[in-house]
Amino acid sequence: MPTAPTGYDPSLGEKFIFVTGGVMSGLGKGITAASTGRLLSNAGFDVTAVKIDPYLNVDAGTMNPFQHGEVYVLKDGGEVDLDLGNYERFLDIDMTSDHNVTTGKTYQHVIEKERAGDYLGKTVQIIPHITDDIKRRIREAAQGHDVCIVEVGGTVGDIEGMPFLEALRQFVHEQDEGDFLLTHVTLVPYSKNGEQKTKPTQHSVKELRSIGLQPDILVGRADDELDPETKRKIALFCDVPTDAVFSNPDVEDIYHVPLTVEEEGLDQYVMEQLNLSDRALPADERDNRWRELVTQETSGSLDVALVGKYALEDAYLSVHEALKHAGLERGVDVNVLWVDAEEMTADDRGRLKGADAVIVPGGFGVRGTQGKIDAIRYAREEGTPFLGLCLGFQLAVVEFARNVAGLEGAYSSEFDEAADHPVVALLPEQYEVEDMGGTMRLGAYETDIEPDSLAAELYGGTSCTERHRHRYEVNPEYIDRLEDAGLVFSGKVNNRMEILELPDHPYFVGTQFHPEFRSRPGRASPPFLGLLDAALDAEVRSPEVDA
Ligand code: GLN
Repeated sequence: MPTAPTGYDPSLGEKFIFVTGGVMSGLGKGITAASTGRLLSNAGFDVTAVKIDPYLNVDAGTMNPFQHGEVYVLKDGGEVDLDLGNYERFLDIDMTSDHNVTTGKTYQHVIEKERAGDYLGKTVQIIPHITDDIKRRIREAAQGHDVCIVEVGGTVGDIEGMPFLEALRQFVHEQDEGDFLLTHVTLVPYSKNGEQKTKPTQHSVKELRSIGLQPDILVGRADDELDPETKRKIALFCDVPTDAVFSNPDVEDIYHVPLTVEEEGLDQYVMEQLNLSDRALPADERDNRWRELVTQETSGSLDVALVGKYALEDAYLSVHEALKHAGLERGVDVNVLWVDAEEMTADDRGRLKGADAVIVPGGFGVRGTQGKIDAIRYAREEGTPFLGLCLGFQLAVVEFARNVAGLEGAYSSEFDEAADHPVVALLPEQYEVEDMGGTMRLGAYETDIEPDSLAAELYGGTSCTERHRHRYEVNPEYIDRLEDAGLVFSGKVNNRMEILELPDHPYFVGTQFHPEFRSRPGRASPPFLGLLDAALDAEVRSPEVDA
């Protein structure tokens, strides 16, 4: 048996649940895995997760949100796949960059070591050098936790995923039985006459086995629950007991997946197989808050206009989620109305004007900025509750400079280096840095909040710690002029402006940071709660009259 790599202390006894996907991507295996994790933490276990992304990018920082969805930002500044956001929200944990293992990170590290002469003249190979590095990363991320869920991105059979699955195969041999489970999530399609078909599942399990992996649990994603006959067939062909085959039917709201998984008994089965049942809290003592929160009755609904560049929910996933959390906390449904900032049609304008609140989220690049500025102006002039996030904050400064402070031609130097008034610009200390990556402000920083401000009320104190991902800042040379014209910077760190508000507006708030990344079910983000509260207030003051 290979020796355990460094960093692994078998006496700690972490349990591992590996999750692979078959048939096709986008099955929601991450949500299935995160839901199982939620139930284990409800039962009293300390659960963490690792997401494996078999792409060559070192991290997701450079990826286009239109292809990959939003870049999620961790507290340590890691720019990662949006799945990590789902784990943080479902498990209510803070992860670090070490919890996202990519092909790029692994190869970069191994090649750097090779260049440094660490391999003493050996031939450096995928097996064992890359696979050892993968196993080391997984073990280190799991250390000290009871259970670590490891999701392998992509689909079994992809060339990119092979080194990871090989590492997994070795991992199985290094683990004691009962400390490891392999869950395979596949698609169960329907034939024309409505019959559930198991052949694709059979094929993907065959693929797994050809690389030496035998799944312990199969989860079938289908429109409905799996028929008993379907489960029996999958069990027979895939060599697992029938009670190791679980349904995971489509549900309207992903927050209901933990409830489905619980009803199916997947968590129970996992605990039994991992010998955790004795250590689990008794059923009546388990944490029930998730279920209570997501099944509560809501009354009424609010329409929030999201003014952005990509007509794709995943591109602004954490903003959608943060709105949902705030809605759950206030017991209202939140409908997000999409407003295309780049090509604002009459329909887009109609949605903007019909909305109870407006959000301008983060972004990079000039496309759509004018539409966002127009939307901000509308919200400011009409008294519609407004929240600007990162680029939304910067454009609120631009809009105010142009239309209130009389600074014609105000802009961000990101979009026009020769702007007459670069009210948003690179700070002087950043001018010298040549590598743009080096100038990005990433991760969690503390912000000082002015007492007696709306921000202090929202955060319930004079400081907050939120995550950042930006390069440009409010230009210190313009702060006096903007403040004299009535803009209030109520949060700052040294000479960096972090929160803005307008005192004579029902709710006009901008944040240089991204509060959406720390929002959780049951712990909604303060600026989002404030936005909904202001919208609810306005409804009470002028209830809509039904025609
Ligand atoms: N593009 C802006 C900057 O770099 C805002 C970034 C963002 O919204 N995340 O500062």
